[in-house]
Amino acid sequence: MRRVLVIAAVLLAVAVGALVRLDGLFVEPEAQRIDSLAAELGMQTLLCVFAHPDDEILAAGALDDATRRGVRVHMITATRGEKGTPDVSVSGAEELGRVREAELREHGRVLGLVEQIVWSLPDRDVELHLEKVTADLVREIRRIRPDTLMTFHPASGYTYHPDHRAVGSAATAAVEQTGGEVRLVYVLAPRGVMGSLGGEPGAQVAANQPAPTYAMPIDAEVKLRGWRIHASQAGYVRRAWKVPPRLLYFFFDEEHYWVP
Ligand SMILES: [Zn+2]
Repeated sequence: MRRVLVIAAVLLAVAVGALVRLDGLFVEPEAQRIDSLAAELGMQTLLCVFAHPDDEILAAGALDDATRRGVRVHMITATRGEKGTPDVSVSGAEELGRVREAELREHGRVLGLVEQIVWSLPDRDVELHLEKVTADLVREIRRIRPDTLMTFHPASGYTYHPDHRAVGSAATAAVEQTGGEVRLVYVLAPRGVMGSLGGEPGAQVAANQPAPTYAMPIDAEVKLRGWRIHASQAGYVRRAWKVPPRLLYFFFDEEHYWVP
């Protein structure tokens, strides 16, 4: 009996140790802890530039908080995500693009965005259209006149997806071309988890991303709501992270941002 108790205690200690280690992988210790990115930066008009429908979930905590504080948030999504996770109920890429654009627009409505622009650049081939994307972003920056532009980091793209890196570099170039007065904010992945569990793309992210300036706590419900709306991609979290979404966001409870 005593031996059973000792074995149970050792197993419990190993399990707790593994959970503490897992929790630590989602933390960026150098980042400044803030309650609100919008308040910290004094945002009034924010322009987000992402690649696919559902990318905005990566920043949903900050976007939800910003619109609640009265920030006018515009979002440009470069593709309709027609090469995303095939949904069994959807026939073909064109219909998937249509479904995913509708999911994106619904999520943007729930987040309280003032404007959503969805381009139809080819999913996975945005980098072939860098010049056009940059020129179109210059035009939109001049029209919207944001004080802040949020996008992916050009060298990490959060997941190392080539479309993410392409929109990140186009948006960075567009800000430079419009005089550099718009503040750039890059949404970053937690490097610990990407480096340990993200395979080769994750290792690239961990190696190429700067340390974040800020860490902002997020409500898991905001993330889960995003995945509920993006129903055609519901299997993505389980496939990419090998855990149910609710468990992922139990550990992954901050968003990270770099402001150069
Ligand atoms: Zn994406």
